[in-house]
Amino acid sequence: MVNDSPRKKVLVFRELPPDQLARLQAQHDVSVANPREPEQLAAFNAALGSAQGMIGASYPINEAVLACAPRLQVISSVSVGVDNYTLSALAARGIVLCYTPGVLTETTADTIFALVMATSRRLVELANHVREGHWSRNIGEELFGWDVHGKTLGLLGFGRIGQAVARRAALGFGMPVLYHSRHPVNLATAAPDLLGKAVHTPFDDLLQRADIVAAVLPLSNETRGLMGPREFGLMKAGAIFINGARGAIVQEAALLQALNQGGLRAAGLDVFATEPLPMGSPLRRHPRVTALPHIGSATFETRHAMAELATTNLLQALAGERPLAVFDTSAGLSPAPLAGQRDGPVTG
Ligand code: NAP
Repeated sequence: MVNDSPRKKVLVFRELPPDQLARLQAQHDVSVANPREPEQLAAFNAALGSAQGMIGASYPINEAVLACAPRLQVISSVSVGVDNYTLSALAARGIVLCYTPGVLTETTADTIFALVMATSRRLVELANHVREGHWSRNIGEELFGWDVHGKTLGLLGFGRIGQAVARRAALGFGMPVLYHSRHPVNLATAAPDLLGKAVHTPFDDLLQRADIVAAVLPLSNETRGLMGPREFGLMKAGAIFINGARGAIVQEAALLQALNQGGLRAAGLDVFATEPLPMGSPLRRHPRVTALPHIGSATFETRHAMAELATTNLLQALAGERPLAVFDTSAGLSPAPLAGQRDGPVTG
């Protein structure tokens, strides 16, 4: 793909594990500068001018950033979500975008299912009940949870992670699964173990029938604000909403309204429109919200596997080879951070 001089200028814009950094340093001239750290922003901006390759995550690479990177040939994102990158600008410049599909699928599905369990069985609330010294007698109905097994799960998105969540639900917990995506999945070939257990369902129908709705689809112009007042209004009284995708898929004011005045039982959120979640956000302390700090893929094993794949992608691209995982920037997802949003979403 990219093959003129052997040693290239590489900008690492989010810390890499030492072994992966060493792989890059062995072959290229590497600068490390995380623009999310105010004291490193100047070094980031300075390195952009000569960078031929970039690797990192969690920072919006938009037209303004690209304008400062005239020599850039490849970006290797340590994430599967590509919503931090202005794809049309990358396509126009012929900049290759690599990403990390697959290696985080099972871990992210674990996180999403953990939120299903935590919200239904009120795990965080009840653990705090013990921790704070309130367990002085057997709990009564006011602290009872809601069964997970047998409930109907509605998945918004049924790709790698959606199907992995569906397996946990259908095969482990006997849950009927409804899913919504633009194209039905051929289960016979793509996921035979889910044949007869997961059903492609129109969006509104899914919202009306699912007991637990979980979002696992990319943020794009089509999905930004997907869950608003109308959509939460369609959900069953007493249903649960889980967001394991990207915060901006949800209109957070509408979610709060559904929790406070609608019939939503609880929400489990790994992602937020602005991250880190602002101190003043009502979602931070809401008694029926389980909020996580964007940990979908955050295990030692998986974060290392992501860094390794992203490093391999970058080395391959810089060597003029086809990387293992290239995102098709001409495919039409057109992400841009929300207006006024300082930071992009964190890795995942
Ligand atoms: P994937 O394999 O590409 O699956 C995406 C799914 O979303 C597909 O089923 C796709 O089907 C569907 N989809 C896309 N656009 C849609 C639309 N406009 N309406 C309805 N369905 C749509 O991706 P993945 O690996 O499962 O990852 C999914 C997303 O999870 C990522 O993009 C990322 O944002 C998020 N994620 C979050 C974390 C975290 O830390 N919380 C970690 C990893 C990933 P169709 O194309 O047929 O519509």
